[in-house]
Amino acid sequence: MTDSPIDPAAYASVMKTTRRRRMFFFSTVLVYIPALWITHAIAPTNSAMGTLFAVWFVFLVISTTLVALSRCPRCGNYFHMHGISLLVLRKCLHCQLHISTNTIT
Ligand SMILES: [Zn+2]
Repeated sequence: MTDSPIDPAAYASVMKTTRRRRMFFFSTVLVYIPALWITHAIAPTNSAMGTLFAVWFVFLVISTTLVALSRCPRCGNYFHMHGISLLVLRKCLHCQLHISTNTIT
């Protein structure tokens, strides 16, 4: 038995949630340029582009916050935060747990 802060049954669920949050974050970042092209093709006005940016920025803040607050199931620290720096890497910044891990190691 390890000193994991959560029970083994919830381990895979926490990692799945962390992966889903990362996917939401990367999708939000990548969708901006195509959304600009589409919006420019439909309504090439400053207000339309400003509205798109405002909506995208809200999604960016939400997705970044969710990624930043993801906890590592093994060490209990923030998975992507070390101090005030946010690094969306594939390993926990504290215990090096890989993002694809589904069992307690
Ligand atoms: Zn960790």
